[in-house]
Amino acid sequence: MPSSQTTARDRARVLVLGGTAEARALAGMSVADGYDVVSSLAGRVKNPALPAGGVRIGGFGGPDGLLDYLRTSDIALVVDATHPFAARISMSAVTACGRGQIPLLRLARPGWANRSDADSWTWVDDHDEAARTASGAARRVFLTTGRQSIDDFRGLNAQFVLLRVVDPPNLALPGAWHVLTSRGPYELAGERQLMSEHRIDTLVTKDSGGAHTAAKLDAASKLGVQVVVVRRPQYDGSVPQAPSVEDAAAWVRDVIDVRQ
Ligand code: NAP
Repeated sequence: MPSSQTTARDRARVLVLGGTAEARALAGMSVADGYDVVSSLAGRVKNPALPAGGVRIGGFGGPDGLLDYLRTSDIALVVDATHPFAARISMSAVTACGRGQIPLLRLARPGWANRSDADSWTWVDDHDEAARTASGAARRVFLTTGRQSIDDFRGLNAQFVLLRVVDPPNLALPGAWHVLTSRGPYELAGERQLMSEHRIDTLVTKDSGGAHTAAKLDAASKLGVQVVVVRRPQYDGSVPQAPSVEDAAAWVRDVIDVRQ
């Protein structure tokens, strides 16, 4: 590698907005490519799996705080690899990178809408609608929309609710709720056993997409469990998007090479 190229690579610092398996994989790939990578985590999970490269933890303080960080940390480009439902940080990235004229890519894993069983699911726009749709006095619900959505489901009328979360909730839950703490990835056999054991008849999820948590959908399909899926929030279509970690890593290389 010519020395001028090494110097340019050393200077090109990449910010990966993370909190997903894809973000960790991208950080690993870009570090292996020789780039200076900083991953940013929100700090929601107690013992997060840490990516290769530098890591910073905690909110930026909105778009202004993020722009300030981008400038003071000499960030040359940003990949927003946050979860498809992390809409606020994604909007912050659009605003801050727009103002700072810093290239931004959205790494968005494909959703589950193209699965062959997706037509049989009930698609809803938000958690409130999901709670209404999944309600029924005799229902036994498997709730997998995450810790932050718990409040939206307090009104869920069901005989039994199995709430699966990474970290235990720090608030009191209704009597019919049972908490299962675990972290994916999950496999079909385990998901099938879990749902059978608890006689689940309704699965509530959001369209997170990807393979890590998709086994519950396969299990639901095999067991005849009703599936309620929350649609993804709308995303700013003006930002280029990559569907895979490999595509995002290639974009990082392309943008840095153009800058040299
Ligand atoms: P959010 O609603 O979009 O973000 C709320 C605030 O948290 C943001 O405004 C920002 O604070 C801070 N924040 C979020 N992600 C950040 C990051 N990667 N680095 C620094 N600050 C961040 O996001 P969320 O839904 O709470 O998700 C939080 C994190 O968990 C994200 O990193 C996401 O990738 C991960 N995650 C989310 C889900 C989900 O279902 N939402 C699932 C799995 C993982 P400031 O405004 O102060 O900058």
